Amino acid sequence: MASPTDLQQEFEALSKKYHEIEAVNRELSDKLTELYILYNISHILSTTFNISQILKSIFQLFKNSLHVDSAQLFLLEPLRKELQLSEKYGFSKLKSGKVLIPDTKLVERIILTQNPLVMSDVTFTGLNDHPKGQNPYFTLAGFPLLTGEKQIIGTLSFFRGTNQNFMRSEFDFLKRISEEVATCIDRALLFRRTHESTILDELTGIYNRRHFNQTFLTEIKRAERYKRNLSILMIDIDDFKKINDTFGHLKGDEILRAITEIMKENLRKADILSRYGGEEFVVLLPETPLNNGVRVGNKLRKKVQKNFRTTNYQIDHHDVTISIGISNFPLDGYSPNKLLETADQRLYRAKSLGKNKTIALEETFEKA
Ligand code: GH3
Ligand code: MG
Ligand code: MG
Repeated sequence: MASPTDLQQEFEALSKKYHEIEAVNRELSDKLTELYILYNISHILSTTFNISQILKSIFQLFKNSLHVDSAQLFLLEPLRKELQLSEKYGFSKLKSGKVLIPDTKLVERIILTQNPLVMSDVTFTGLNDHPKGQNPYFTLAGFPLLTGEKQIIGTLSFFRGTNQNFMRSEFDFLKRISEEVATCIDRALLFRRTHESTILDELTGIYNRRHFNQTFLTEIKRAERYKRNLSILMIDIDDFKKINDTFGHLKGDEILRAITEIMKENLRKADILSRYGGEEFVVLLPETPLNNGVRVGNKLRKKVQKNFRTTNYQIDHHDVTISIGISNFPLDGYSPNKLLETADQRLYRAKSLGKNKTIALEETFEKA
């Protein structure tokens, strides 16, 4: 029979072995989680290029597999140099609609240094549910999101609702995740830019002619199927050559952009504005009968004239104005070519009748 000392030693040896195996087991399980998350992040791009969908999927993954209480991702809006909270989870005490964020200086510090930031005792702003001085503290591991060219596009921060710090191995893993997420977002942004450059006009930012041609077909089919009206406005800036000659080509570009903005502001969301050629635009007005198309045309015409009357752009003491020819589906035909041709003929007539006019049905509607 084994002596109590032998048993004691055997127990201790087994216990040691057990803890060793448990540690290896934990390490393996962590490794598996790591691989699982990294594999899935790299896979998300094969399902969508939509940034908000990508972020939703990534955060769902975090929520299911990461041992952190909450996470936040900020994207840097490059044009406005602004940070936008793009995705988050955790913060269950948050009242609906109210965004809870850590001191933005922390996020800004990550942006400025482009280095990770690890901190405990982080408090949050926006916590209405807690009386003053009783805000919970968090431990933070925040990472910069950098592109392949080391350009910062945002931050990804992980929080723990205790003062227990992140371990070295956890930090390394979260850093790796942040790098994967940055690559994923960078590729999606590149895809978006490439896609936009094929459908948008560079100077004005509205749709280009190629995209218009595609959309036009779709809209005609829709109008046909649901027996709806569709009005088409062909718009040409009056005496634009003189504008260029008087103010120079750069000012000409500026005026082109300004006219685009005026039209955008005065159209509905469903209307489709495109740059058709140099100083020519085309607008598709779905669900719009001819008389309403004329109303829209005259509104645009007057808004443009009024805008430039208050600026110093006058050509031979004339305002900067536009002429418009309108055609309508089904009144003027069913094919895209016929509809464009008709609108163009009416635009030509508007020019020959003295410009700054809206023509539909071979009549003028200057005063409508
Ligand atoms: P009309 O009233 O008959 O339309 O006369 P117009 O001078 O506007 O027409 P025309 O076709 O003779 O001239 C169009 C001018 O538009 C000539 C061209 O240099 C200018 N233009 C076309 N695209 C651009 C552009 O992107 N930027 C600038 N600044 N000018 C442009
Ligand atoms: Mg012109
Ligand atoms: Mg022209």
